[in-house]
Amino acid sequence: MLDVSAIPAFDDNYIWLLRSPESGACAVVDPGDEDPVLERLAAERLDLGAILVTHKHRDHVGGVAALKARFPRARVLGPAGEPIPARDEAVQDGDEVVVPGLGVRFAILGVPGHTEGHVAYFGEGLLFCGDTLFAAGCGRVFSGTHEQLHASLQRLAALPADTVVYCAHEYTEANLGFAKWVEPDNVELICREAEVRHARSRGEPTVPSVIALERATNPFLRVAEPAVIAAAERWAGRPLQRGAEVFRALRRWKDRDYD
Ligand SMILES: [Zn+2]
Repeated sequence: MLDVSAIPAFDDNYIWLLRSPESGACAVVDPGDEDPVLERLAAERLDLGAILVTHKHRDHVGGVAALKARFPRARVLGPAGEPIPARDEAVQDGDEVVVPGLGVRFAILGVPGHTEGHVAYFGEGLLFCGDTLFAAGCGRVFSGTHEQLHASLQRLAALPADTVVYCAHEYTEANLGFAKWVEPDNVELICREAEVRHARSRGEPTVPSVIALERATNPFLRVAEPAVIAAAERWAGRPLQRGAEVFRALRRWKDRDYD
């Protein structure tokens, strides 16, 4: 069984540390900064076997080259469609990889939209999805398109309900604020907000999440819900086509008026 823990970085990033209790081998996901990773590896006497990268943004790859220099045997996996420093293996949708040292097998899911070549790693009931799906939210559209991000999120929403979702940022509390603008009467959303406030007041992380909870509370996955469509149409001031158009309106609404 894989052990997963968070290494906090910058203001609100999480670098995920994966390790095998049996072998002592470990891997990290999206090391935007090498310092907190090196500190943790030294404290726990871990040998870095792999670095998994979801996309090209600096706060996800900034520590890759330094970690590779310090652990030359660590294998760097990253999306084929983006420039990733020190990459050993380019991965793309449909690939399967076995993480060196950990023995776990991940399917590569192409999930463009936040960036043009973003990938997610899925296996063992775990999903590492970078800046595509957040707890109660989703990434912004930078170098991909709204249509791509909508399709990618629908794909992630269709994963098994108990899939554990490891996203790369602690944005949940703010995301829930927007989600309540969209669906003020969603009871599960109201409950989730209370739990998240409690966790944050104690300084605890609110991730990982699970797919079932995202389906119930994340407006960006709920674009077929009548209440979500109605809210998006109110904001847009016109009828919207189902699916991608509702998604685009929600994403623009949040970008322009919320954060
Ligand atoms: Zn990003």
